[in-house]
Amino acid sequence: MGEPELISESVEKCFVCGAEKMEIKNYIHDAGLVGKVLLSVWSCSSCGYRSVDVKPWETRTPVTLQFRIESVEDLNVLVYRSPMGEVSIPELGLEIEPGTNSQGNITTVEGILEEVLEFFPEDKVEEVMKAKEGKIPFTLVIRDPTGSSFIKSERVKVIS
Ligand SMILES: [Zn+2]
Repeated sequence: MGEPELISESVEKCFVCGAEKMEIKNYIHDAGLVGKVLLSVWSCSSCGYRSVDVKPWETRTPVTLQFRIESVEDLNVLVYRSPMGEVSIPELGLEIEPGTNSQGNITTVEGILEEVLEFFPEDKVEEVMKAKEGKIPFTLVIRDPTGSSFIKSERVKVIS
């Protein structure tokens, strides 16, 4: 049972008071008989909100998934992005940090592009729209320290 190991930390907007002071720290903790657990500690230094969430740590191997989108059909491929999954599309210069919601989500490649549209300023819209229409090939990359994200295609390159 060692000390919990810090695997990620970030500062987000507090959903209670709105200050950019919500510190989110994720730890892996070896809880003995229970196995490894993921501990998420949320604390706001502005309003004092604090919560601790514990869930089982499913896999232990960090993984990077790469999927080359070359046709419109590829846009329908199912993608599971775990709460820790970091999405990027190098060709479009896009990166999406893991979300603040602790739920993973099942979506499609197209769904990820739609999410990108919500996140990014207008200068990317045109390129993303072209990508959505299958007009420009691109690579979807998911880096996941928990290794639980997946892209449901045989052509996915898995780098661990
Ligand atoms: Zn707060």
